[in-house]
Amino acid sequence: MKRILFIPLILLVFGCSKPQSRGGIIFTFDDQSVRNWVEYRDLFRKYDVKATFFVSRPQLLDQGLISGLKTLQSDGHEIACHGLNHIDARLYRGSADGFYKEEVEPAISKMNEMGFKIVSFAYAFGLAPDSIDQLLLKHVKYLRKATWNMYTTLISNYDKIYARPDSFNIVSSMGIDCNYNIALDNIESGILRAEKNNEVLVLHAHKIDASGLDYTINPAYLEQVFKLCKKDKIKSYRMEDLEDFFSHRKLKDSH
Ligand SMILES: [Zn+2]
Repeated sequence: MKRILFIPLILLVFGCSKPQSRGGIIFTFDDQSVRNWVEYRDLFRKYDVKATFFVSRPQLLDQGLISGLKTLQSDGHEIACHGLNHIDARLYRGSADGFYKEEVEPAISKMNEMGFKIVSFAYAFGLAPDSIDQLLLKHVKYLRKATWNMYTTLISNYDKIYARPDSFNIVSSMGIDCNYNIALDNIESGILRAEKNNEVLVLHAHKIDASGLDYTINPAYLEQVFKLCKKDKIKSYRMEDLEDFFSHRKLKDSH
């Protein structure tokens, strides 16, 4: 009789005290390769990857490209903003407010007119001064920055490319286009850290093709990365999911 009671008690204690922590991964794609991204929608669907597409120069999008973005959105991807003229915030000479009014606000308005609700912004060239970060966070919820594997090391060594419970509104990302030449086992080191620490790893790329040109990602390589996610059972999220991801975790952790 005692033993029968003891087993459920063990299950209760161990089942509730430590929820399984799996982390997450965010794939982001920048600039304006809308037709190209739409061509690969089945690849995303096959692996149930929901990405975030950061679109620059929305004023140049024609009706066909706008409906391409709508297709991506209806597949569950996030459409986000990458600026009106792809201006490098570090080189901008005016005030933070000037940067917002010239580069960010008109781009977001344009995208709002097209029917996209914008909550995330990615900096052209990946970096910005703190003053601009702070100002933009009054207008968008998430800022994505960017880095590359500058130390030729494991990407799991780059703290800034991980969103964490205490820092997810501003997060950097690791470039995985072919010019960065990041081996798949290195990508996996990044995934395993996210799982171990319950963080969200953020990656970025541009056009999906096999040209081997800088700032393109080979579709076969991208598929291998998606396969790694499937093998390691890490789920993909969009930038806009980050708050829910972490508040959900908090609820689970407090049980
Ligand atoms: Zn860009």
